[in-house]
Amino acid sequence: MIDVGAIRARAEEVRARISAAGADPAAVTLVAVTKGFPPALAVAAAEAGLLDLGENYAQELVPKVDAVASSGAAPRWHFLGNLQRNKVRSLAPHVSLWQSVDRAALGAEIARRAPGAAVLVQVNLSGEPQKGGCSHDEVEPLVAALTDLGLDVRGLMGVAPAGTAEDARPGFRWLRREVDRLALTVCSMGMSSDLEVAVQEGATMVRIGTGLFGARS
Ligand SMILES: *Cc1c(COP(=O)(O)O)cnc(C)c1O
Repeated sequence: MIDVGAIRARAEEVRARISAAGADPAAVTLVAVTKGFPPALAVAAAEAGLLDLGENYAQELVPKVDAVASSGAAPRWHFLGNLQRNKVRSLAPHVSLWQSVDRAALGAEIARRAPGAAVLVQVNLSGEPQKGGCSHDEVEPLVAALTDLGLDVRGLMGVAPAGTAEDARPGFRWLRREVDRLALTVCSMGMSSDLEVAVQEGATMVRIGTGLFGARS
């Protein structure tokens, strides 16, 4: 049994953390990351008023979309994970914001299946080549290429390198500067462990899983 009241209380705690870090919680979009949890959890999150929901895997997103829609809620679904081009078609009817676009070929497929879709360019802040995201140098040309494809490039997304929250700061600072330099609006950065640093550095969107729902199995 998933307790909607408990999720609501955790969401208030997350907003209090944003506020304590010096930002206005109303100005930071809270994306609730339901990956690794069953569809009933996503239903409960929407019932608790969390209407921006994030998922990393295509095969998990589609059943959750159906479950949440059946409950009568109409959340915005954010796609956050590494994305293969052959998964775009099944996701296209459901995704409101594609946050993990890191190459033009993927953008072309999104533009084909969901013309004009809203996207973020994912930037690799860790420098580890096996992690998702384009390199710093690729950001500006990729934003231009995606715009040329007719996509609505809203901003940038980054995942901090492994380490302490403070280790995330330089990457987050760079990302926010780049959002401003490119005259974009959305800066999606900060997860449960580095939320405070992210909002101090100017996140407009944070993506929280364990901080709302506990540990994933
Ligand atoms: C899992 C995940 C999150 C949420 O992480 P938590 O540490 O559970 O808050 C945020 N963003 C991305 C890209 C993720 O994969």
